[in-house]
Amino acid sequence: MSAPSQAWPQADSVAAFAHNLEVVRTRIHAACRRVERDPQGVRLLPVSKTVDEARLRMAWAAGCHELGENKVQEAQRKAQALADLDGLRWSVIGHLQTNKARDVARFADEFQALDSLRVARALQQRLELEDRHLDVFVQVNTSAEASKYGLEPAQADDFLRQLPAFDRLRVKGLMTLAEFSTDSARVRACFVRLRELRDQLRQDAPDGIALDGLSMGMSGDFEIAIEEGATVVRVGQAIFGARATPDSHYWPGEDTPPR
Ligand SMILES: *Cc1c(COP(=O)(O)O)cnc(C)c1O
Repeated sequence: MSAPSQAWPQADSVAAFAHNLEVVRTRIHAACRRVERDPQGVRLLPVSKTVDEARLRMAWAAGCHELGENKVQEAQRKAQALADLDGLRWSVIGHLQTNKARDVARFADEFQALDSLRVARALQQRLELEDRHLDVFVQVNTSAEASKYGLEPAQADDFLRQLPAFDRLRVKGLMTLAEFSTDSARVRACFVRLRELRDQLRQDAPDGIALDGLSMGMSGDFEIAIEEGATVVRVGQAIFGARATPDSHYWPGEDTPPR
């Protein structure tokens, strides 16, 4: 699935970030053109895990005005350190434990990995205390046994029916991680599964539950995801440079191929 890491040079200056962003945007546009989609309908969420604050300031100057982070503690530390960057939005895109709900309620604008009512309940409570709202995506497991994250597709309908009770959560759509595979047909099948599930659930979604969003696609597969309908692509390494930290740190137990 992933391009070799030398395809993702480290960005260490504002100009280098501007260049990498331009390359990614050009690829987004090309993918949109192939399937006659409007590029305005694809949001690029830069994913900044492992990237230090100095480089995040460069990325900001180059135009990254929202950042995705997998781990809450790392995200919160950065959000505090970069609080002077006006309007910078934070998206938590990794699995959340209920004891971190308070932190997310304080600084995050979006949470993309909702997959349990326990977490929904914890977030609702903490958001009420903070008097804040949170955009959320419901994470679905589209790769069956290869992943342990996200709801099973068959559970999604019931789950969505419970969500109107949590009025601090603004449901925007579905999110998935494709199977980690070098076989692009298998990767594509995951994205197709998410889109078809979205289309099916949207037909009688509860009031107030918007299911337009599809957050899918990362550095190695975002073009396939766009061809299959992604409205949000979460791109880290193609903007910031290859990560030294193995992905297994973020997805313990996932079936990741050696790079
Ligand atoms: C790290 C991460 C990404 C981005 O991966 P890259 O290979 O850096 O593009 C996307 N989604 C999630 C959930 C992640 O943790």
